Amino acid sequence: MEPLRLDLPADLGIGQVNAYLFTQPEVVLVDAGIKTDACWEALVDGLAQHGIAPADIARVVITHTHVDHYGLAGRLVAESDATVWVSELGAPWLSAAEALWHERLVYYRDDFLRHLGLPADVVAVTLHGLELLATRIDPVPAERIVPFHLDGILQMGGQAWQVIHTPGHASMQTVFYQPEARRLLSADMLLAVTPTPVVEQPPPGAGGRVPALPVFVRSLDVVEALDVATVYPGHGRPFTDHRRVIARQRERIAQRRDECLGYVRAGLARVPELLDAMYAHQPPATRLAGLWMLIGYLDLLVEAGQVRQSLEDDIWRFTAV
Ligand SMILES: [Zn+2]
Repeated sequence: MEPLRLDLPADLGIGQVNAYLFTQPEVVLVDAGIKTDACWEALVDGLAQHGIAPADIARVVITHTHVDHYGLAGRLVAESDATVWVSELGAPWLSAAEALWHERLVYYRDDFLRHLGLPADVVAVTLHGLELLATRIDPVPAERIVPFHLDGILQMGGQAWQVIHTPGHASMQTVFYQPEARRLLSADMLLAVTPTPVVEQPPPGAGGRVPALPVFVRSLDVVEALDVATVYPGHGRPFTDHRRVIARQRERIAQRRDECLGYVRAGLARVPELLDAMYAHQPPATRLAGLWMLIGYLDLLVEAGQVRQSLEDDIWRFTAV
C-alpha cells in the first residue's frame, strides 16, 4: 500500500500530504488533499497510475477535517457518485465548513490571540493565514456525507478496519487499524515527527479550550498499545517500529516541556517572550506551529501543577509554582 503523495502549496511548509487507495472490491480513497489545481492534478495522476479515474471512486474516507486532508473531497464528489465518509465529529466541517471556519477565526481574533499579547503584525499574519486555509476546501453536499461512529468499523480493501478516535493533533482525528494485517492508517496522529496540537475553538457547551497536547499524549498511549507492523501516515513514507517512534516523540516532548519550564522559572511569564526563547530559529511571522506547540507545553505544565496560569491586564501570565 503505497501512498499517493500530493504536493501542498509551499506557504504551508508541510511538503506533501498522503492519500491511500483501495481498488478492490470497490474504489476507496482515504483522504483527499487540499483544494489547489496542483494538488488536484497530482491526485488525478496518482489515481491514473492505478488505472483509476476520479469518476470511479465509490467512497472517500476522511481521517480528520484539516484542509490538507479533505480539501478536494467536494470536487471528487462533483466528478463522481462517491459518498464521503467522515467521523460524526468531523462531519460538520464538511457540511457547514463556512460557519465553523468563521467561528474559529472569531475565537482566534477575540479570545485566543487577544490574550497572548503578541505584536499586532504577528496577529494579523496569523489571522490572514487562517482565512487562507478556510478557502482551501470545497464544501460537500450534506446528502453525500456518511458519518461514521468514533468506534466504528470501515470496510476497505476487502478488510474490516477499526476506527479509533485519537484526539490531540485535531479533536476529530481518527485512525484506522486493521488487526489481521497489523496495519495502521495513522493520519496525522502518528507521523515520523511529532504532529502539532492545533488550538481549536472550545467545543459547544465546554467551559473553555481543550488542552490539545495533554490529550495528544494520552492518544499516544492508545496507539502504542496496538500491535502494528506498518504505519501509513498522513505525511511522509510508511514506517515500522511505531513504539520506537512514539518513545522518541515522548522524550522530545518531555525535553521541550522541561526547557519551557526552565524559561518560566527564569521569569519569562508571557507567550511572546516564551515564543522568542523557544522558537528563536523561526521568523516571527511563521511561528504558528511553534505557538501551538508552546501552548501545548504550557498546558502540560499547568496540568502537572508546575506552572500557574493567570490573566493580568487581559494577557495570560505563566509563573512557576
Ligand atoms: Zn495533515
